[in-house]
Amino acid sequence: MAAALAAQQEGARVGLVEQEERLGGDCTYYGCVPSKSLIDTAKAVFEARRLASEGILEIAPGLAYRPVHERQRSIVREIGRDERDERFTSLGIELVRGAAVFLGAHELQVGDASVHADRFVIATGSEPALPPLEGLDAVPYLTNRTVFDLAELPPRLLVLGGGSIGLELAQAFQRLGSRVTVVELLDRLLPHDEPEAGTLVEQALKAEGVELLLGSRVIAAQEAGNEIELTLEHERYGATRSSSRPAAAPQSPVSGWTISASSSSGDTSV
Ligand SMILES: Cc1cc2nc3c(=O)[nH]c(=O)nc-3n(C[C@H](O)[C@H](O)[C@H](O)COP(=O)(O)OP(=O)(O)OC[C@H]3O[C@@H](n4cnc5c(N)ncnc54)[C@H](O)[C@@H]3O)c2cc1C
Repeated sequence: MAAALAAQQEGARVGLVEQEERLGGDCTYYGCVPSKSLIDTAKAVFEARRLASEGILEIAPGLAYRPVHERQRSIVREIGRDERDERFTSLGIELVRGAAVFLGAHELQVGDASVHADRFVIATGSEPALPPLEGLDAVPYLTNRTVFDLAELPPRLLVLGGGSIGLELAQAFQRLGSRVTVVELLDRLLPHDEPEAGTLVEQALKAEGVELLLGSRVIAAQEAGNEIELTLEHERYGATRSSSRPAAAPQSPVSGWTISASSSSGDTSV
């Protein structure tokens, strides 16, 4: 959408091909917007509790997750309204609905139609990349496509991957009341950033009660009664152990979730 608007402003004749009914992509519906909304609420709850612990504010101890979820949905709806077709068509950008397939350097097929252009910008986004865990397909799990649909707070949540997206959601859910465990393959968090950043975030998350299993590779998942049991290979010790610790709460149909923002580039954060 940004590329289409920019090209239109530069005077190009622009078409925008989208396979979904609604414009907006990952950021609006499965990424930035729902996550930042959840994080914003979680931060407010965290600050309120901090003030309460200092005797400045009186608050009831419980938290109702449904209004948190509703707030997130309403923010997504509001942003989504900004991305309606007319915003683009009113500027003369032609919208073509359907999945595009390249027929040549200057031609796309979209359904029965063919679309010609001098140049194409490919901005087809990403899909969650699932890690090669034995048994993953047989257990319930969440990705960024489904985690924001949760209408109930998961009592226990396991996050696979200590990158920025996994960690921001881990912190938000912990602040809202889930017991969160993060499993990271490498021996530090935020492996793509400066080591100092990982250390700072590690200290902050630990202080808030997030359990961190660093240097740990999850190799298998299976249902064990009402829980999900993961097998971790502890690289540091070269041993394999089975753990039911980072598993589902009995009441929850979902315990662990896996998320990736950049599967299309092969850069998995799960
Ligand atoms: C949980 C989470 C939180 C995030 N938070 C942030 C954040 O705070 N800040 C930030 O900058 N980024 C954030 N990101 C990353 C951000 O969401 C992505 O970088 C961004 O959405 C990528 O935009 P895009 O247009 O490239 O792809 P997308 O938003 O995925 O859009 C691609 C579009 O292409 C369509 N499409 C795909 N294939 C075809 C085809 N063959 N024909 C026609 N249409 C097709 C899809 O339907 C989709 O609508 C977050 C991501 C996640 C998962």
